[in-house]
Amino acid sequence: MTSVDTDRINLSAPWIDERDEELVLEVLRSGWLSLGPTGPRFEALIADAVGAPYAAAVSSGTAGLHLCMHLVGVEPGDEVITSSYSFVASANCAIYMGATPVFADIDPHTYNLDPAAVEAAITPRTKALVAVDIFGYPAEYDELIAICERHGIALVEDSCEALGAKYKGKPLGSHGYPATWAFYPNKQMTTGEGGAVTTHDEAQHELIVSLRNQGRLETSSWLQHGRLGYNYRLDDLSAALGIGQIEKLDRILEARREVARRYDDLLADVDVETPLADDEDHVRSWFVYVVKLPAGVDRDGVMARLAEQGIATAPYLPSIHLQSYMRERYGFAEGMLPVSEDCSARTMALPFHARLERSDQERVAEALRGALQGV
Ligand SMILES: *Cc1c(COP(=O)(O)O)cnc(C)c1O
Repeated sequence: MTSVDTDRINLSAPWIDERDEELVLEVLRSGWLSLGPTGPRFEALIADAVGAPYAAAVSSGTAGLHLCMHLVGVEPGDEVITSSYSFVASANCAIYMGATPVFADIDPHTYNLDPAAVEAAITPRTKALVAVDIFGYPAEYDELIAICERHGIALVEDSCEALGAKYKGKPLGSHGYPATWAFYPNKQMTTGEGGAVTTHDEAQHELIVSLRNQGRLETSSWLQHGRLGYNYRLDDLSAALGIGQIEKLDRILEARREVARRYDDLLADVDVETPLADDEDHVRSWFVYVVKLPAGVDRDGVMARLAEQGIATAPYLPSIHLQSYMRERYGFAEGMLPVSEDCSARTMALPFHARLERSDQERVAEALRGALQGV
């Protein structure tokens, strides 16, 4: 084996350049590290990118989802429906409020919530639906919105994996509902830690701004607090990085699209199900490249073979309801959500980021082909 063959291929990598360094240094040298002018500049760019009138930067996507639960008035005893085939934050935000997460099953190809399953999960206690755009593929919003309207349920978009995606020709975030975004380093763009909530209503925006800033009111001075709030602010260094990232967002998204296209080609004759292609109504923003292995294949074995060749993979995504704390707390068990569970058992994320080289992708495809033949 040559040394090139043993170079590690990482699962993800942020795209940081000199412009980002410059913007962060500027804030560092200004001495104004939080609640300065950089946050609002970043927020204006986010609002513009997603087509929403208001954006509030927050300390993480999880914090943003938590604040969205406040926004729609989730209370102890309520139920909040979401997808189990997601990141835990999609469900944890309900638990933070004393509400109960209720999981509806997903479509086996989009991996997003199946609207019929959502409707079947509604009870008199259902307060909200957290729709997830998993792996950057837009959820079935028209159907989900119709269900929410029919039953008087609030809709919150967990678009933390989907910045730049489009549903029916318009960007996610522009459809009128509160949406949460996340900027952890493996996302399309990063602020280190960070997130944002976009809204279409001034009063909702003001509530988010107050809640993230310890419950301060617009009119109150630093030590006056009008409600119970949190410290969910994003600092100005992070916001500065966010500005650099959003300035090149189109380039980042196009590069990720190209990397995905190359995987589609390289894996055409490998026995895996590649990610669902876009259609007229759904334009994905590429977050991760996840393949589904044939039923019965030993996924851990495949992952181990790739790891031996320096190729990182991850079992994206485990079903939330089968996490140990969920089983213990709610008695959830196997068999509740057959489609989520089957996807969780068979799907796997390959190395994926904007600047992944073709030669590395060829190595990944070869290794995967070999591993599948060998198990
Ligand atoms: C990344 C992500 C979040 C938020 O993550 P943070 O690490 O808190 O920023 C929420 N939901 C989904 C589906 C995510 O992928």
